[in-house]
Amino acid sequence: MHLIDSHCHVHFHAYKEDMDEVIKRTLDRGVFMVTVGTQKDTSAFGLEVAERYEGMWATVGLHPNHTVEQEFWDNDELAPEHQATPKIKTRAEQFDMDYYRELARHPKCLGIGEFGLDFYRIPEGVDRDEVIRRQVQTVQAQFDLATELDKPVVIHCRDAYAQQAVMIREAIEAGKLSRRGVIHCFTGTLDEAQAFIDLGFYISFSGILTFAKNLQEVASALPLERLLVETDAPYLAPAPDRGKRNEPWRVEYVARKLAELKGVTCEEVAEQTVKNTKTVFGLEGMDSSQGL
Ligand SMILES: [Zn+2]
Ligand SMILES: [Zn+2]
Repeated sequence: MHLIDSHCHVHFHAYKEDMDEVIKRTLDRGVFMVTVGTQKDTSAFGLEVAERYEGMWATVGLHPNHTVEQEFWDNDELAPEHQATPKIKTRAEQFDMDYYRELARHPKCLGIGEFGLDFYRIPEGVDRDEVIRRQVQTVQAQFDLATELDKPVVIHCRDAYAQQAVMIREAIEAGKLSRRGVIHCFTGTLDEAQAFIDLGFYISFSGILTFAKNLQEVASALPLERLLVETDAPYLAPAPDRGKRNEPWRVEYVARKLAELKGVTCEEVAEQTVKNTKTVFGLEGMDSSQGL
């Protein structure tokens, strides 16, 4: 089964000891990857790793959680003693347009992101409105960069789907978002998903789909033609491997669940989601020597 994990972080610290083995293991199973940047250093390094492999690409961008200084656990589903990943301390970063523009010109860079609105992870004791203002500015700046370079966007959104949809619609109407993109790791309602699809976006499901009943209902009602699959590895390992460090090849579990929900074969899901991923990221022209 040939799949593309449309969103992972296989170049992150969690793979410090065995990154190349994990990537090879994934490619050997016929799974290609888009490894996603979240701030300056992870954006630069993702490209560096993607450069070394066929079947691997990267995106560059500034994640909303890195726009304010804070400390958090990466996986809220488990008690700290069961965390597969250590607590993250992040420095506040301002979006540096020139820096990201330079990176985004790299031939392996498929898009801008992940970025977006995250109203869930706002640290205590800070001015909430100020944090949101900063997130909004960072989103607008990355819409501008994506439009300038004619790249798609990878949107991270948590507890802010309505506001995010409004921002996207306003940007499109103002001519400030030329391409569309993907709402990654979607966990919202059917109406929220439909609003993004109506705006020309694709919806991507992570391993959460393997265990969240409400999300399974949403996925079964959405058109396969607008869906992508991802792992968000090292986070969000799907059932039955919840709590483990995730790896990109586990996108197979997400595809299998999606096939079950849609009542189609895994091959159909694989074929359609690969096609969708290629469409979103402009990979249609890739030659068959790359397995695409
Ligand atoms: Zn994300
Ligand atoms: Zn991510």
